[in-house]
Amino acid sequence: MICKTCEIELTIDNTYPQDHRYCNKCGQKHAVFLTGRRIILESMRSMNLESKIIQTRTLIKEAVREFGLDKVYISYSGGKDSTVLSHIAKGIYPDILHIFANTTNEYPETLEHIRWEQEENHTNIITVIPKDVHGEIWTFKKVVEHYGYPMYSKRISNAIRTYQHTITEKTRNNSLEYINRNFKKYSKYKELPISDKCCDKLKKEPLKRKARELGMECAILGILASESYQREKDWLEYGCNVFHVRKDNQCKPLSFWTDEDILEYIERFSVRISKLYDMGYSRNGCMYCGFGVHLETDGSNRYQLLKKSHPLQYSYLVKNFESLLIDFEISYK
Ligand code: SF4
Ligand SMILES: [Zn+2]
Repeated sequence: MICKTCEIELTIDNTYPQDHRYCNKCGQKHAVFLTGRRIILESMRSMNLESKIIQTRTLIKEAVREFGLDKVYISYSGGKDSTVLSHIAKGIYPDILHIFANTTNEYPETLEHIRWEQEENHTNIITVIPKDVHGEIWTFKKVVEHYGYPMYSKRISNAIRTYQHTITEKTRNNSLEYINRNFKKYSKYKELPISDKCCDKLKKEPLKRKARELGMECAILGILASESYQREKDWLEYGCNVFHVRKDNQCKPLSFWTDEDILEYIERFSVRISKLYDMGYSRNGCMYCGFGVHLETDGSNRYQLLKKSHPLQYSYLVKNFESLLIDFEISYK
């Protein structure tokens, strides 16, 4: 392996211990850079809502200026963050394209909200359903049967999938060592059918395919850096507007918003959001997704909530995935 910055050969002696992509010298420099970025993110987070809205509008306009209005789209999930993003973007570009990936695992309230946006709020939305390159439709159940259940977190599921697909003894030991170093508690689940492939199959690939088909060049995403370790790490490295740097161009103009900002915006501008949020849910993600479920309060986790709020969908979960949930030691009753 070579250092990401200066390209010298990395050895045991010269590799930066906290980040194995760098040599010691470049790793130290990069750490200073990240510390500076963290200070910037904190100061952006401490701005008031008015300033944040202005900044967000500027970032969206930058994307449109760079690629053209007919080459950018809002990646729309029907959740409150992307609804706030849509509200701000439509305030500048009323007809801006929204693409919604229906994962086949959506709450009925999400689908109803999408219908309302499209038919009554005149939002320009295209819905894509998960099909692969051969036109074959994928469902959540099919993904679980083929690849494994998305459980605990993306990183854990990815580590388990990687472990299960290693070919040589050496790579197997490496990935085992990775699991034990980072998620020792979850090592006991490593032989269970768990995988992070679901999002690729049901969301990312269909969205990207449609975007490519329509000639889109940049996705505008309503994600907050505070949502996950990976999102914050991404922001620190690349910032809000990532154009011509990585494989995909992305505009993430809400990155520095907090959950409280989202709620304040919704209230101040009377933004209509999915009814799901009035039913005890704080997220609108996929009904059966297991990412983060282990961190939710036992007694009111998403599956236990589902039992009360959506009995029909709950019985489907139990019928198809009960034995897996037992193996994963996740409460669902
Ligand atoms: S959020 Fe979860 S269930 Fe939905 S597509 Fe991604 S991994 Fe699958
Ligand atoms: Zn270097």
